[in-house]
This record gives sequence, structure tokens and C-alpha cells, in this order.
Amino acid sequence: MDNGKRSIEAVCPDCGEKFSIRTTPEVGQRITCPNCWAYLQVIGLNPLVLEWDSLDPEDEEFGDES
Ligand SMILES: [Zn+2]
Repeated sequence: MDNGKRSIEAVCPDCGEKFSIRTTPEVGQRITCPNCWAYLQVIGLNPLVLEWDSLDPEDEEFGDES
């Protein structure tokens, strides 16, 4: 029973876990799965469809926090 603020449910194509997105997703938006940290991208909104983000394979720097 939350009035107004809806979270949108998505299914990670990598680990298959459901998670909710707080913001309103847009096509092309990049999302990181909170369960497996897969880089995902929104490719459809109705229904919400996620696909693996097509990142540069070279770009594997994960701990870049400078
Ligand atoms: Zn996942």
C-alpha cells in the first residue's frame, strides 16, 4: 500500500532475481543489478525489459574511486 511512489519491478537477465527500480526507467538507461552487479540497460518499458549493457569489453576497471 504505497500511494504515489511506485517502484518498478525488473528481472535481471543475468541472475534472474527480481529487483525494484525507484526511478522511472527510460529506454537506454543503465542499471546495475543489485544482486549480481551485472551492467544492464533498459531496452523496453512496457513491459520493462532489461538487457546486458554493451560496455566496452576493455573497460573492466571496477574500483575506480579517485
Ligand atoms: Zn542480477
